[in-house]
Amino acid sequence: MNKLKNYSTKILPCTDTPINKLLSSFTVPSTSSTPAYDLKCSDKSSFEPLQQDEIDFHYKIPPTLMESTIKEITKNAQPEQAVTLTAKVTSGPNVEQKIMKDGTQLPLIKYILSDSTGCIEANSWGTQCDILKTGTSYKFQYIITKSFNNIFYLQVTKRSTIVEVSDIGEVQSSEAHENKTTIGRVLTIHSTLTHHCSSCKKKVTDICKNLVRCPSCKMKQNKSALIANMHTILQLKDKETKFNVEQTALIQFFTNINEKLDILEDSEEIEDFFLELDKDIELEHTQSNQVLSLKLC
Ligand SMILES: [Zn+2]
Repeated sequence: MNKLKNYSTKILPCTDTPINKLLSSFTVPSTSSTPAYDLKCSDKSSFEPLQQDEIDFHYKIPPTLMESTIKEITKNAQPEQAVTLTAKVTSGPNVEQKIMKDGTQLPLIKYILSDSTGCIEANSWGTQCDILKTGTSYKFQYIITKSFNNIFYLQVTKRSTIVEVSDIGEVQSSEAHENKTTIGRVLTIHSTLTHHCSSCKKKVTDICKNLVRCPSCKMKQNKSALIANMHTILQLKDKETKFNVEQTALIQFFTNINEKLDILEDSEEIEDFFLELDKDIELEHTQSNQVLSLKLC
């Protein structure tokens, strides 16, 4: 069997039959095994559904293409398994700007998928998954199971295929997976300002002088060229949860209230600002307490 690569931004159109003729694809040398070939699709590619008696060769459904239900995935799957499922997007996209260890920013796009047996979070790095629509059903192939704190989620990778299918009907409510809002006064807070080399993006700690040499890649640069990142953990009064606030959420917040963004250059100032605030703040956050937005009440 050849591997199918979808290079187009379009989702291949819906077919519900297991056997399809692939039209307008072409072969390219395989990236994972030589001398094999992969099949490459473009915007012009499509599927033509076929009946079983229309093909004259034996075929076997590959194990990674065997369908699992969400319940089977969350109960039986091992992490890092490739699975196939048909599910409806019930929430999302939620985009979180993540700061990588090297200081670069990458959007993490999150969806909640539901079928009749349960709900699961699915996410993808970058923009490869930003075309899914809430309320629409899709067949996801070669999507990888991941586990964090014993909670399973699914990761869309470059090898995954997503095909729109007809509506799968009633699905489980995804309420328990959706974002929440918490309101309160800031009780404790800790902001940490880090600087990253503008060449290799690694962390630079010794920045006393105006000209700084990166300890990792040895490139010297002006202090002002370093990439600054403010990470904040805060706790609200009468709540035990500690919330994580990334710089992007703070920039949005301070821009909305017309505060100068210079404040992001001083962790003490950020901490004092929130502690001296004579108002409640409203946090929109994920189930894992990642703050997506802040608002003054
Ligand atoms: Zn460097």
